[in-house]
Amino acid sequence: MKIHKDDTVLIISGKDRGRKSKVLETFPKESRILAEGINLRKKHQRPKRTGEKGQVVEMPAPIHISNVKLICPKCGKAIRPGYKIEDKKKNRICKKCGQEI
Ligand SMILES: [Zn+2]
Repeated sequence: MKIHKDDTVLIISGKDRGRKSKVLETFPKESRILAEGINLRKKHQRPKRTGEKGQVVEMPAPIHISNVKLICPKCGKAIRPGYKIEDKKKNRICKKCGQEI
């Protein structure tokens, strides 16, 4: 997965296109991520007690990583990260400014 938890991403398709968000969770098996406030789905919550009203809450739904681009924390550009192998460790780097991410 090129996208990690706590990354900042730019949404490049769908109704949230152009928005920036923080990655809350990743699902590597499905190549999907959950991003803060992105792809919100309305969910009806049943009342907890009698007499209370049910609520509609908005919850983010996972989106495919092909719909997002990583934002470099240093240069602030939306990038496709490169990789640098160092001591058998794979580090993500920004191809634009060379920053390790
Ligand atoms: Zn950069």
